[in-house]
Amino acid sequence: MKHKISLQVKCPHCRKSLMDDEVILHGFPSIKLNIQTPEDRGIVNLCSVYECFDHVSSLKTKKDTVVDFSCPQCNKELLVKEECRLCDAPMVSFVLQSGGRVNFCSRHGCSNHYVAFDDLSTELARFYEEFGH
Ligand SMILES: [Zn+2]
Ligand SMILES: [Zn+2]
Repeated sequence: MKHKISLQVKCPHCRKSLMDDEVILHGFPSIKLNIQTPEDRGIVNLCSVYECFDHVSSLKTKKDTVVDFSCPQCNKELLVKEECRLCDAPMVSFVLQSGGRVNFCSRHGCSNHYVAFDDLSTELARFYEEFGH
């Protein structure tokens, strides 16, 4: 069985942690973000486990809606100038506490996301040390 890797992320603007200890998903603190859709504003907690798409949201988002994500600490948008290679929606980017970045698609229902490490092997080794077994 694969190990679960919990991503510890922070805001690329204010560098504050986005982890929410009060909302635990799959045994790990979740990632708390402000969201905005064409209809409404709210809060989402994303599962921090890599390759898990579970989340709890205060909004009911229709499938295929492009959601605006922003930092709950500094309110800056987390969208980057990069388009999803699957659906052309803007990508959202966080900084990982241990280095590297994680990017995911802002379109609800699109599963495109990836982790970009400066050095993949050392980062993964560190994750397994911390969270493996
Ligand atoms: Zn911020
Ligand atoms: Zn996409």
